[in-house]
Amino acid sequence: MEWGKLTLAGAAATQGDGGWAPVDDPANGKTVGYVRMCSAQDAGEAVAAAHGAFADWSGQAPQARGAILRRLAGLISENSEDLATLLTAEQGKPLAEARAEVASAAGYFDFFAEEARRVNGEIIASPRTDSRILVMHKPVGVVAAITPWNFPVSMVARKLAPALAAGCTVVLKPAPQTPLSALGLAALCRMAGLPDGVLHVVTGNAATIGPVLTQDPRVAFLSFTGSTATGRLLYGQCASTIKKLGLELGGHAPFIVLPDADIDKAATLAVAAKFRNAGQTCVCPNRFFVHEAVYDDFLTRFLREVDRLVSGDGRDAASTLAPLIDEPALAKVERHVADAVARGAKLTRGGRRAAAGRTWYEATVLENVGPDMLVSCEETFGPVAALTKFTEVDDVRGSVNASQYGLAGYVFGRDISTVLKTAESLDLGMVGINAIHLGLEMAPIGGVKQSGLGREGGHAGILDYCEPQYLLVGL
Ligand code: NAP
Repeated sequence: MEWGKLTLAGAAATQGDGGWAPVDDPANGKTVGYVRMCSAQDAGEAVAAAHGAFADWSGQAPQARGAILRRLAGLISENSEDLATLLTAEQGKPLAEARAEVASAAGYFDFFAEEARRVNGEIIASPRTDSRILVMHKPVGVVAAITPWNFPVSMVARKLAPALAAGCTVVLKPAPQTPLSALGLAALCRMAGLPDGVLHVVTGNAATIGPVLTQDPRVAFLSFTGSTATGRLLYGQCASTIKKLGLELGGHAPFIVLPDADIDKAATLAVAAKFRNAGQTCVCPNRFFVHEAVYDDFLTRFLREVDRLVSGDGRDAASTLAPLIDEPALAKVERHVADAVARGAKLTRGGRRAAAGRTWYEATVLENVGPDMLVSCEETFGPVAALTKFTEVDDVRGSVNASQYGLAGYVFGRDISTVLKTAESLDLGMVGINAIHLGLEMAPIGGVKQSGLGREGGHAGILDYCEPQYLLVGL
């Protein structure tokens, strides 16, 4: 299959014997391409091959692995327009967002190309003069990576880059809605010189492939990004082989506007954070808590920005609001809005399927949102902003910390002491303070509570793909 300069047939996709599955464009329902439905045997063979390739790959000098990753970052940048076009075709987001995602993926490979040479050990002071204590960090082994459809390039890069840099080999199962982006990245890995056997992309049915990845003892680490429900299931499946786990799960981000905030900045960034990828983002705000003193001003500016959003095909430069990924995603959004309205929320904007096409939903704003509503408890994953007016920040903190989720949140205010105290008091893995773009490759991305385990990105991100080995040396 040709896609611009990328020849996807040349990707390291495992050939399956279970037929082919179509990949559809959410904007118009047209089939973009087909991928193999890999069997359990294919998945097992991919694990075996990754296991076989581990000794050579982990035995290479970190600088050699880094050089391949640096070349890969360059190839991603050179082919960014093709990758972004492919991403938009199978996922639906506006091209500008797809380009930003591809640039972020290149950033991950570039960063971890450098980190490969910084997996340093430690010498610990020994209690005896006749011994020394050394600690080394060794690559964990074969990594199984399972990724979601909402960021099909950057979520793959966030796992592949540190895993390959550390010296691990990888079997990747991308989401069935968006496997072509992963195959595009795999094709570039090959062009960058990644040796055979180091990366395998296994496309197909989760029920067939999943149990192999979670239960094969040769897989040392399961790195999963997706919903909390699936993460919980995979956690259980990994118990039989006591795998190391990295879980990047669902979120329910609060966006808190304090009375001294720069209201124009807060409203503009609030809309950008909420409606990016049509709200199908793990870190997108699910609830807005706005202080009563600035509520009306914030609402006016927020609605001004919402009214500027344009629903349309992502390939049209004017489009800023993407379609939802599929019919079940639309049905969930409709359920949340209907529940909120039935329980007394005010529907200020939107609230219907949009005319732009089959899976668009209007940019929707709900006011007077209460804690008992579905939008306050579950991830909506759609273009719905739920607003609540508050008087005391302590009440907001209680509400935020009562959630099972603890991924991300945002605090807007000018008094640094109040803002820092508020941010620190929230049980969240990441907080944007007067800022929204949290997904930076040099920072530790991840959540607490049922939003996940471990961190991706930053130096901690590469150490997650290693195990420390302690050596007691007698002299
Ligand atoms: P999902 O339904 O949990 O699926 C994620 C991936 O897991 C897909 O590849 C899916 O494949 C696979 N999967 C599902 N059941 C499986 C099983 N039993 N065994 C093996 N694999 C299985 O999540 P999604 O709807 O794609 O993604 C949206 C979710 O991801 C949201 O909750 C969002 O918050 C979260 N997310 C979190 C982060 C973060 O950094 N924390 C980032 C992005 C997204 P199938 O579709 O074939 O089942």
